[in-house]
Order: sequence, then structure tokens, then C-alpha cells
Amino acid sequence: MDKFEKNLEREVTAMRECYRSGKTKQESWRRSQLKGLQTFLKEKEVEIFRVLKQDLGKHYVEAFRDEVGLLRKSLNLALKDLKKWMSSREVKLPIIALLSSAELVPEPLGLILVISTWNFPFVLSLEPLIGAIAAGNGVVLKPSELAPACSSLLVNFLPNYLDSEAIKVIEGGPAVGEQLLQQKWDKIFFTGSARVGRMIMSAAAKHLTPATLELGGKCPAVLDSLSWSWDKEVAVNRIIGAKYGSCAGQVCISVDYLLVEKTFSSTVVELMKVLIKKMYGDNPRESHSVARIINKHHFLRLKNLLTDQMVKDSIVYGGSMDEDSLFIEPTILVDPPLQSTIMTEEIFGPLLPIITLDKIEDSIDFINSRPKPLAIYAFTHNEVLRKRMVSETSSGSVVFNDAIIQFVADTIPFGGIGESGFGKYHGKFSFDTFSHYKAIARRSFLTDFWFRFPPWNNYKLEL
Ligand code: NAD
Repeated sequence: MDKFEKNLEREVTAMRECYRSGKTKQESWRRSQLKGLQTFLKEKEVEIFRVLKQDLGKHYVEAFRDEVGLLRKSLNLALKDLKKWMSSREVKLPIIALLSSAELVPEPLGLILVISTWNFPFVLSLEPLIGAIAAGNGVVLKPSELAPACSSLLVNFLPNYLDSEAIKVIEGGPAVGEQLLQQKWDKIFFTGSARVGRMIMSAAAKHLTPATLELGGKCPAVLDSLSWSWDKEVAVNRIIGAKYGSCAGQVCISVDYLLVEKTFSSTVVELMKVLIKKMYGDNPRESHSVARIINKHHFLRLKNLLTDQMVKDSIVYGGSMDEDSLFIEPTILVDPPLQSTIMTEEIFGPLLPIITLDKIEDSIDFINSRPKPLAIYAFTHNEVLRKRMVSETSSGSVVFNDAIIQFVADTIPFGGIGESGFGKYHGKFSFDTFSHYKAIARRSFLTDFWFRFPPWNNYKLEL
């Protein structure tokens, strides 16, 4: 056992003792930690914008919309509804349990491990933390090493705002992640790739630890042949905003590819060109609104997708890139071969393949012949298509006529299905994810149905 592992074991033991003291279960403790997070966001806002620019080239307005603003909203909600979330709920028991009452009492799970990723380094770390704290747990958070300035800010400053006996932030990469997984946790909340998700599951199996896996995949958008100019423009604008306007497409619920009817595709491409220019100007490289690719490895991965011999000829817009500044231009491709890597692996970058279909209804089979996505987006006025999209496909969520907005909502659960993950969070769903609803039943000593006890005979069955 090396020094880090020994220290870690000691720290986890101390955290477990702290949890057993009952401190984290107190409503006052939960409130004070949530308020600590609020103060952290307020006092460190400028620093947060700075490190997001440094690691990901995010403009501060984008950083506010996607990270700070979102977290502020979640904290306000948790503080407002905490009492309601914590209260028990009465339920009915069957008549056989005469003179009885029952309730569901939410109890914290204990010690939570949160491992997060780099594309939204604050929101993907702190959103689960809000839920875990609201539910009264101790937490170890490990942000991703791939956004190092963001990770350092969390490690160096967040503890000043929180109870460091019960909440710790640990910096490190896969080796640290592996050591953390050796410990026994009461729940693991993981955001990242399916590859590491599988490792999380096998580590969790050792201690029968429940896990939530927030993974990724290829989220399709279906664009019906809209006939008016205003709805076409709204739809295309929203698709472009979702694809290029949030972390340069490095988003788990970004539009990965677009399905349109063959006859409609040139209209869509022309409109996209106009609207991309409106957002990023004639020279997007000079624009401050284009986030950067996280690192050279991912830049080269995306470059390989585009320079693939099979794919090169399908580029109809964009395609320029600059390795030094990790810039990739918003790019559109039409009908790259379905067996090419760009159509078999999650893109996670500003490249948008458009796949043309004979009729838009074929999109259902297209989607169903691939792994279940985290989200499906469909832009249509067609009520029959909408109904079929909901009832005949399977995905974490379905959004009509927009994209990414489901992440912002507290009232709907966020999470995947199949290869896009399992478990859900946001709003009250986060509280539930980190709680056990303990069933409490009470009976009076008075009265019993005599036929529920032995000796057994036919008469008791016939009653
Ligand atoms: P990754 O799986 O490589 O890393 C995620 C985290 O796991 C990091 O903190 C990393 O240090 C840690 N890790 C890596 N190897 C580990 C190991 N062996 N043991 C323990 N921990 C380990 O993530 P990535 O590939 O950089 O992230 C991109 C993926 O995340 C994409 O697939 C994307 O769709 C997905 N994602 C999902 C969501 C969501 O909310 N569903 C959000 C963002 C990203």
C-alpha cells in the first residue's frame, strides 16, 4: 500500500466516523453547505470564468449560461425545497394490516464518491454535490484532470467554503480514480465515458455499491421538412446553437448527427451556412464565441474523423482547423458513409454529419438500429411522427423543436438508458438519487385477523 492509498484509507475512515456522528443529517448542516456553495460561486465567479477560458476557451457568457447560472438556479431550488424533500411521506397499507400506518422516510446513503468529467467541469461536479449534500451525505469529489485549471480551482478553494470533515475534493487522473474505487462507498456517481463506466461498475460490484452512470453516445436530431421559412430558421438556429454554441460540441447531449429528407437537405445546408456566419462571422477563428477543443489528443481524434479517406468528400462547409490554438471550425458533412468512424463513434466536437433519408419516418428505424441515445431531438409539426418518436424509440429523453434545454429543467430527470447510462438527477431527482426511502410501518397491538396464523386448513383459504 503506497502513501496516497494509506492516507486515503485514513481519510475515508475519518469521513465515515463523521457521517456516523449524524452531523450531515441535520437540516442546518445541509443548509450551511448549500449556502457555502452559493458563496463559492459568488466570490469565485471571475476566477471560474478565467479557468473555463483557460481550459476550454469558453466565453464568460457561455460559462455563465452553462455553469454558474445553472448551479445558482439548482442551489436556489435545493434551499427553497429542502424541508419538503426531507420530510417523510405517509402511505396506505392494505386492509390486512388493520389499525396501522406507514410512511416513507428519506435517509442519506452515507459516503458518496463523485467522479466527473471535463466538458462542464463545474456543473458536472457541483450539480451531483448539491444533491448529495441536500440528501445529507458525506462526499468525495474527483474532478477531471483534463481541465486542470478548473480542477485546481475546485481543489484549492472549494474546501474553504465547505465542511472539510464531511466533503473532500481530490485532484488526479485515472490512477487516483482507481485508488478511490478500491475504497468502499455507499454510492458512486460517475460522469464520463462508457469505457470507464464499465470499470466503475466492476469496482462497485465488489462492495455491492449502487452506481449512477451518466455516459454519452450519439444523440440524433430529426429535422422534418418544415415548409414555412420562420420555423425552418428557428429549427436550424437551435440545432446550430446546440451543436456549436455549447463547448464546441463537446457535450454529451449535443446533436451528434442530423437526419433529414433527401429533398430537404440542400435547403438545410444553405440555411445553416447563413446562420453559422451570423453567429461566428466570416472568420470563426477570430470569434470569441467558439470554445476550444480540450487538448491535443481530442483535437487529433477529431482531425482523424475529418481526414478519413471515406469522409473527406462529404464535407460541405468548414473543415479548417488550427492545432496550436486547438480550434476547429464549425463543420457540416452530408452523407458520410455510415460505416465511417464519424458515424459509429460519438463525435464530441463541432462536426455535424447530415444523413439524408427517403422519408423522415425512416428516422425511427435508423435510430432504433443503433445504441439507445441519451437524447433524441425532433423538429416537426407532425403529430403522428411525434407520437411514434415517443412510443417507438428508446432514449434518456426526447425533446421536440429544441435541443439541450432538458438539461436546464429541474422538473424532469436527466439521465441515460442502455449504453448512455442509468440513474437520474437534477432537482428533486438528485435528492432521490442520493437517498434511500426507508419503509416504516406501524401497527397497533389491538385486533388481528385470526385466519392469518396457523394451523392451516381449507376453511381459512376459502374465507
Ligand atoms: P473519461 O471516462 O475518460 O473520464 C471521466 C472521469 O473518470 C475523469 O475524472 C477521469 O479522471 C476518471 N477516470 C478515467 N479513468 C479512470 C479509471 N481507470 N478509474 C477511475 N476513474 C477514471 O471521460 P471522457 O471520455 O473524457 O468524457 C467524455 C465522455 O463523457 C463522453 O462520452 C460524454 O458523452 C460523456 N459525458 C456524459 C455526460 C452526462 O451527463 N451524461 C456529461 C459529460 C460527458
